[in-house]
Amino acid sequence: MTMVKSSNLGYPRIGENREWKKTLEQFWTGKLEKETFLQQMEEIRLSSLQKQKEQGIDFIPVGDFSLYDHVLDTAIMFGLVPKRFEYTGGKVSLETYFDIARGTKGAVASEMTKWFNTNYHYIVPELDEAVPTLVENRPLQFYKEAKQKLDILGKPVILGPITFVKLSKGYKDNDLKTVVDQFVPLYATILSELQTEGVEWVQIDEPILATTISEEEISIFQDVYKQLNEAVPHINVILQTYFESIDHYEEVTSLPVQGIGLDFVHDNNQNLSALKKFGFPQDKVLAAGIIDGRNIWRANLEDKISLLSEIVDVVTKERLILQPSSSLLHVPVTVKSEETLEEVLKEALSFADEKLQEIVLLTKGLQGGKETIQKEISASKKAIQALNHSASRNNTQVQEDIQNLRTFRAERETTSEVRLQIQDETFQLPLLPTTTIGSFPQTQEVRKQRLKWRKGELTDADYQEYIKAEMKKWIDIQEELGLDVFVHGEFERTDMVEYFGEKLAGFQFTKFGWVQSYGSRCVKPPLIYGDVSFQEPMTVKETVYAQSLTTKPVKGMLTGPITILNWSFVRDDISRYEVANQIALALRKEVEVLEENGIRMIQVDEPAIREGLPLKQEKKESYLDAAVYAFKLATTSVQNETQIHTHMCYSDFKNIIDAITALDADVISIETSRSHGELIHAFEEHTYDKGIGLGVYDIHSPRVPKLEELTRNIDRALQVLNPKLFWINPDCGLKTRGMDETIASLKVMVEAAKQTRERL
Ligand code: GLN
Ligand code: ZN
Repeated sequence: MTMVKSSNLGYPRIGENREWKKTLEQFWTGKLEKETFLQQMEEIRLSSLQKQKEQGIDFIPVGDFSLYDHVLDTAIMFGLVPKRFEYTGGKVSLETYFDIARGTKGAVASEMTKWFNTNYHYIVPELDEAVPTLVENRPLQFYKEAKQKLDILGKPVILGPITFVKLSKGYKDNDLKTVVDQFVPLYATILSELQTEGVEWVQIDEPILATTISEEEISIFQDVYKQLNEAVPHINVILQTYFESIDHYEEVTSLPVQGIGLDFVHDNNQNLSALKKFGFPQDKVLAAGIIDGRNIWRANLEDKISLLSEIVDVVTKERLILQPSSSLLHVPVTVKSEETLEEVLKEALSFADEKLQEIVLLTKGLQGGKETIQKEISASKKAIQALNHSASRNNTQVQEDIQNLRTFRAERETTSEVRLQIQDETFQLPLLPTTTIGSFPQTQEVRKQRLKWRKGELTDADYQEYIKAEMKKWIDIQEELGLDVFVHGEFERTDMVEYFGEKLAGFQFTKFGWVQSYGSRCVKPPLIYGDVSFQEPMTVKETVYAQSLTTKPVKGMLTGPITILNWSFVRDDISRYEVANQIALALRKEVEVLEENGIRMIQVDEPAIREGLPLKQEKKESYLDAAVYAFKLATTSVQNETQIHTHMCYSDFKNIIDAITALDADVISIETSRSHGELIHAFEEHTYDKGIGLGVYDIHSPRVPKLEELTRNIDRALQVLNPKLFWINPDCGLKTRGMDETIASLKVMVEAAKQTRERL
C-alpha cells in the first residue's frame, strides 16, 4: 500500500530522436499522408505514456501532448479561430490548426510569444468578438485513448480559464471577468464529461498565479472555481501553479478545489515559508513540485528528502503528491543517448526520464523511510560532488577574479556625451551612418562547407580559406553598396551562442539535448557546467582579416553575457548572476584583444536580455541591474575612441528603457518594423542621448522594401530623434535571407539614407 503518490505535469513531445519534429515537417512538405501522420503522432504520444507508466508514475498526464502548441490546442477546442481563416464552426480541421500557427498565403499566422519566463513560445489566442463554444472535449479524448490503448487511467491536463484568457489578446483588461465568465460553462462541460467517464483527478494549470496579480484577479479566481465546483462537485481538481511562488497563498489554498500544485524549486523558498506559516487545508492534497522541471541537473536526493521532511511536518503523507516543479516540456528526453559526454558530467545530469526516476525514488523514500533509497541517495551525492570537485568547477583564476570583481572597472572613462565627440572625430562618419547587424546570408553552400569541415572532409586550412573568400566577397559588396560601417558577415558561426560556447571553457554540448522552442523548431542549449573562462581569441582572426580589406570600420561581433546565459542550461551550484559575470569577464578579454588588434567598433549583441526578466515585479529590478552590470563588465574597459555597439531584436521597450540606457553602449540598434510606431512613442517620452539605429526594414520577409517606405520610416524616427545620433540599419541579422534580395534591399536602404541626408 503506497500513500504518497508520484505524478508528472507534462512530458516532452519531441521524442528521443526528435521524431515528432521530423514527422511534422514531413507532413507539412506533403511527404506524409494525413492518416499516416496522425498514426505516427499517436505512436509517439502512446510510447511516452507507456514510458511513464513503466517508470511507475501514479498520475500520468494526458492531453499535454500537442501537434504544435497546447495554448493553440485550447483555443481550437473552444472554436476560437481568427476570422481571416474563414472558419465556419464545428471541430477545427488539422489544416486550419496549422494555418493559424504558420500562416497561409492570404492570412498571416497568429502571433507567437514566450510562455512565461521560458524559451517555449505559444500561439497567442485572438479572442476579439468571437464567442467561445466547446467544439470538442480534447482532455476526454486523450483520457479515453490512454485507457483503451494502454490501460492507463491518466490525469487530464487542461490550461485553466483565467490563465488562458490572460494570455490571449483582443479583449480589454477591465473586461477580464466578463470574458472569463464566457468560458466557465464550457470548462464545466469538459469536467462533467470527464466525471461521467470516471476520471478521478484533473490538473488545471493556472501558472498566471505565479506572476504578480491583483486582488481583483484573485476574486475572479474565487468566483470561477466556486462555479466549477458547484457545477461538477465529484471530480478532483488539482489547481496547478509553477515557475514561481504564489503571492496570494491563503486565498489560493482556500479555493474550492481538491488539490493545489506548488513549485518548491523556483519559489525562493516563498512557497515553503507560506506553507509553514499558514499551514495547509486538511481537505486538500498538496502536489509538491520538488524536482526542477526547467534545468538538467541531477538532484541531490538527500537535500530533497530534507525538503520533504519540512513539508510533511505540515501535510501528512497520504495527502501528498510528489512531482516535478513544472511540465518536463522544457528539458530534453533522456541522458541515456549521450554517449560522448565526459563521464563526470553525464553522471550529474538528469533529463525528463531521469527526473521521473528521481520522483519515483523520492516517493519510495518518503513512504518507506530514507533507508530504502540510501544507495540512490549516496549515488546522487557522489555524482554531484564529483562534478563540484572537478577541475572544471575549480578554476582558481576565475574564482579569484569573481572575488575581486570590484577591481575590474565597469564604467567607461568618460560620459557618453564626451565619447560621442571623440568618436565623431575618430570616425568622421557622415550624418545618418549606414550599417548592418552582423550576419550576411548563410547560404546552402556555407553550411555545406562547414559540415564537410566538421566531418573532416575539409582541412582546417581549406575551410578557413573558404570563410575568408566569403568575407572578401561581402566586404567588396559592402564597398560597392556604399555602406559606412562594415561587418565581416559571421560565416564561421552556426549559432550566436554555440560559437562562443565552443571556444570558452566551461561549456559542453550534448548530442540529443533538444527542447521545443516553437512549433517544430527545437533548440539544443549548451550546458554551462564549469567555470567560464577565456581560452584564446574567438573572433579576432576573422575581424582583423575583414578589416585589412577596407578603410571603412569593421565592427567586431560578439554575443553578450546575458544572451549566452539565457540561451543555455546553467549550472545551479552558484548563482546565475555569478555565471553571467564569469562570461562577462571572458568577453571582456575578447573585447580587449579586438581593440589591441586595431578593431575600433565592437558590437555586443543582447537579443535575449528581456527573456530572462523574472515573473515577479519585485525581482525585475535586481535582474536588470545584474544584466546591466554584466554587460558593462564586458564592454567598458575600452578607450574612449572605441565605439561599443549593441543590438536587440524586439521593440517592447516599455519597462526596460532605463536599463537599456544604463548599458551605456555608444550605439544601439533595435528592431522596429513590427512595432507599429510604438517604439518611436517610447522615445518621445524618454530622450535617448546615445547613438541609435531603429531598424528601417523587416528582415523576416524576402520582400525588397520600397524607397518611399524606408524614407517614411526614417522621417518618422527623425521627428523624435536627433539626426546626429541616428543610424540607418535593417532590423536584424541577414543570415536567413538570400543573397540577391539582401543586396537589393541594402541598396534601397543606402539610397534612402543618401536622399534623407540631402534633405536635412
Ligand atoms: N549579430 C547577429 C546577427 O546578425 C545578431 C542576431 C540576433 O540579433 N539575433 O546574426
Ligand atoms: Zn536581432
